[in-house]
Amino acid sequence: MRRLTLKTRLSLWFTLILTLICALMLALAFAVFTTYDQHRIRDELIEAVEDEAERIEDERDYADALAAGRVRDADYLRDDVRLMIYDEDGAQIAGLFTQNELEALPYADSERIGTVAVDGRSYYYYDEWVKVRRGNDYWVRGVTAAERSVWSALDGHLAPLLLLPLLLALAFLGGYWLTGRFLRPIRDMDRTAEEIRESGDLSRRIPYHDTGDELSALTGHINAMLDRLEQSFNAERQFASNASHELRTPVSVILAQCEYGMENAQTADELREVVAAVQKQGGRMSRLIETLLLFTRMEQSTERYRREATDLGALVRSACADHSLIAEKHITLHCEAPDGVTGRVNAELYRLLLDNLVGNALRYGRENGHVDVSLKQHGDSVELTVRDDGAGIAAEDLPHIWEMFYRADKSRSTRGLGLGLPLVKQIAAYHGGTVSVESELGKGSVFRVILPTSVIE
Ligand code: ADP
Repeated sequence: MRRLTLKTRLSLWFTLILTLICALMLALAFAVFTTYDQHRIRDELIEAVEDEAERIEDERDYADALAAGRVRDADYLRDDVRLMIYDEDGAQIAGLFTQNELEALPYADSERIGTVAVDGRSYYYYDEWVKVRRGNDYWVRGVTAAERSVWSALDGHLAPLLLLPLLLALAFLGGYWLTGRFLRPIRDMDRTAEEIRESGDLSRRIPYHDTGDELSALTGHINAMLDRLEQSFNAERQFASNASHELRTPVSVILAQCEYGMENAQTADELREVVAAVQKQGGRMSRLIETLLLFTRMEQSTERYRREATDLGALVRSACADHSLIAEKHITLHCEAPDGVTGRVNAELYRLLLDNLVGNALRYGRENGHVDVSLKQHGDSVELTVRDDGAGIAAEDLPHIWEMFYRADKSRSTRGLGLGLPLVKQIAAYHGGTVSVESELGKGSVFRVILPTSVIE
């Protein structure tokens, strides 16, 4: 059996609760009515008996007629109260007698309403002793049913009750329509999710109506999440294509060199040249693979690259010393890294970050230029600056230099992989820090890495 839709279920629940509330209110109304009715019945009984007693006392003709046994056509049924008149010996003088035990009851002179059951039904009776000035005295007795049917009492007022099922049906239909409207964003979400699942097209979005409620906020959040998913999916795709492209070049060179060596190399020197070319490309591939692995490891495990209290000054000085040994183009490398600057970092990663920034500054520096490396502590953070007066970066390249495999130098004359700066960024982020650049084409660049001194593990 097909399960009921959320819309139908909500409407049914809503109507059921409404029905229960109506039933409860009706029960309450009946209870109030019954209490009120009891008072009314008793008041009517006493009033009818007292009226009759007064009449006997006040209307001489009537009293005479009673004494003479000549009463005709008198009205002894008043407001459902049956009236009976007896003389002091208990003989029935006038009234509505029906020959049942009610009529034979002893008189109650305590001015209290008595209750009696006859044939399974309860009755109230009330007696009053009437003294007539000229002799004959009487008992006036009133009898009335103790419970009256609610339905007979409601007689003539039933129409609103009959309308109730109609109102409930209307409530159900209204609820069904309203829930349908409220749930529309959920249907849209479901449809979009289904479409994305079927087509794999992550560019689809849920139609957004800014109603300011929780569902429109949820729609906005899911769409934003889809944006992020699409971005990272595209980035992943781009990465895979770039990585295979970058690997294809050295592989093609290696294959071409091998083919050339096998067919053409005659002497040991010629063969050595081929092997050297193969080794160079192999080295490039190895660096590429190592760096890519590093990215993955950093993303996957913080265990491997533990952050510990490290003397950053010593680390920077050592990196500068190593790089000044291999500096080309007569570049002067100046290093300012005081003692006592420490931070919770992974020394291996921080050294890699330094190598990439200082290496780039030297590689893209100018002949006889300067590279300044400085490390400073500012309160809770440590700032590393690497400044060069070399090639600089064009404004249009600046936003892209952090992307994987992006290289501003389109001629690719330098031997970079286009992975250095993305790695720097990733290492800074790994330590909870940031990296930024200021650069002007032809004038040089300044790279700045700011790390908090205490990183929460
Ligand atoms: P690469 O391996 O090509 O150096 P990077 O990711 O380290 O890759 O750098 C990306 C690009 O940014 C480089 O190709 C280069 O064009 C530019 N770049 C990086 N550092 C500097 C610098 N100090 N001066 C000028 N250009 C730079």
